[in-house]
Amino acid sequence: MKKTGTHYKVSSIGDIQKLGRVILHDELGLTGSEVSINELPAGISIPFVHSHKRNEEVYIILKGKGQFYIDGDEFAVEEGDVIRIDPAGARCLKAAVQTPIRYICIQTEAKSLVQFTENDGVPEESKPTWLK
Ligand code: ZN
Repeated sequence: MKKTGTHYKVSSIGDIQKLGRVILHDELGLTGSEVSINELPAGISIPFVHSHKRNEEVYIILKGKGQFYIDGDEFAVEEGDVIRIDPAGARCLKAAVQTPIRYICIQTEAKSLVQFTENDGVPEESKPTWLK
């Protein structure tokens, strides 16, 4: 499905369980974050260690197991784990030998969030048919 409205954009990226790397910035016209859906095959590592200039990253492990490297620390991660890394954190991720690892990575500018959830949400008069 693809659909665009005045204040939204919807896109289908296909079978979420079988995709390789999908970057949503262009797909959705993101303006305040970058979101990618990623999978590393069993035993495969991101081939470099990196940090960021301004963006913190959140990794959400959807499936599988792996090893994280952050600033010299190495630790196991698995489905259900969530990891936030400051821009300066030197990071790398590797899938466990026996299983691929599937994860979402969200990049946002560190310290840019000044309000969220109840503090940013504004009640609106319009309603969907199921709330009328
Ligand atoms: Zn990164």
